[in-house]
Amino acid sequence: MPDVFTPEKRSWIMSRVKNRDTSPEILVRSLLHGLGFRFRLHHKKLPGHPDIVLPKRRKVIFVHGCFWHGHDCPRGKRPATNVTFWNEKIEKNRQRDHEAQEKLGELGWTSLVVWQCETKPLEQLTDRLLKFVRGT
Ligand SMILES: [Zn+2]
Repeated sequence: MPDVFTPEKRSWIMSRVKNRDTSPEILVRSLLHGLGFRFRLHHKKLPGHPDIVLPKRRKVIFVHGCFWHGHDCPRGKRPATNVTFWNEKIEKNRQRDHEAQEKLGELGWTSLVVWQCETKPLEQLTDRLLKFVRGT
C-alpha cells in the first residue's frame, strides 16, 4: 500500500484523468486506482449502495450529483417550474442519503460524500481522497 507519493507520481496520476471527459464517479475511481487503493463498486448489501467500497478499511464513498441529491451549490439549483414535484423528489433523495449514512455508521463503516462540484480542482480531490482512505 503506497503511503507517500512523490510530486512526479502525483502529477502522473492526475494527468491520466485530468482532461478526460469522465463522470464524477469515474474520475474518483480513476484517482483511487491510480493511488493504488483496492475497492469494489456498488455494494448491493450495504445501505444506500455506496458507489465505491473499500472493504478492508470499512470505508465507503458516495459520489453525488449536485442536482439529484440536492447540494447547496449553483449546480444544485432547482428548476423554477414544477417546484413541488422537484422539492419532493430531491428531499426524498436527501433523506435516503442521510439514512444510508447513518445506518452505515451503525454498522461500523465510515462514509465520504464527494459532490460533483467538488471533483475540481483535481489536486484538492486527490488530497481529500488520500486523507479519507488513510484515515489521517
Ligand atoms: Zn455541488
